[in-house]
Amino acid sequence: MRRANWKQAHPEENRAYQKAYRQKHKRRLSEQNKDWRQRNIEHVRRYNANYKAEHAAEIAVRRKEINQTEAFRIKNRLRVKRWIERNAERHRLTRLKYYHRNRHRIQQARRDKKNRNPEDHLKRIRAYREKNREAIRARQKRWAKANPEAYRLYARNRRVRKRGLPVEHARIKAFIRHVKKLKSVPCYYCGTRLSKNEITIEHIVPIQNKGGHTSDNVCVCCSACNCSKKNTPLTKWQTPRLNQFVLAL
Ligand SMILES: [Zn+2]
Repeated sequence: MRRANWKQAHPEENRAYQKAYRQKHKRRLSEQNKDWRQRNIEHVRRYNANYKAEHAAEIAVRRKEINQTEAFRIKNRLRVKRWIERNAERHRLTRLKYYHRNRHRIQQARRDKKNRNPEDHLKRIRAYREKNREAIRARQKRWAKANPEAYRLYARNRRVRKRGLPVEHARIKAFIRHVKKLKSVPCYYCGTRLSKNEITIEHIVPIQNKGGHTSDNVCVCCSACNCSKKNTPLTKWQTPRLNQFVLAL
């Protein structure tokens, strides 16, 4: 009774005394605590679960604060790195899936970044190309081999662009798609009916003669006409194949 009164009358002193006591017997108290927790593991688990549920928001804030400390970040980076090393294939797939699900957002973000600072973008691209020259070349070769038709188009566009001539890549692609859907197409020069595997795409005014890669300078013709004409201008092309309609143009 006397002690309780003393505690009430002297809260400051009491607190200081308690603190000193805990400090003095730190190790013993900690052992006792540990012991008790092990003996009452179920109780501890229940208590922890309740605490987590009741203080979810608070815990989230605290966790965020911890996550932002440099020490945590360094430790975590290492942990993640080790995990990736152990689960390389799974990591690759996860990344792919993530990219696929978010590709519109990611692509937009890339575009935004590029537009915000085009010079930085160029610098980054140049540095990347410099660093990965061999890998890029190998990848391009693989792609060209797997997509011969698309590669031909790409190479052609590049030639045209190099000469500073106009390019209507999308329109020509659409034109070719359209033509390939047809049952047969007449050769622009000689009129032979061509199936979709027989068509070749021709520049009426050769690119060498400053014809653009544009929809009004492209036609479908047979490979015979294409081989025979090559880069000859229409008016100089000596051929019995040419139909009169084209000549009249
Ligand atoms: Zn022909």
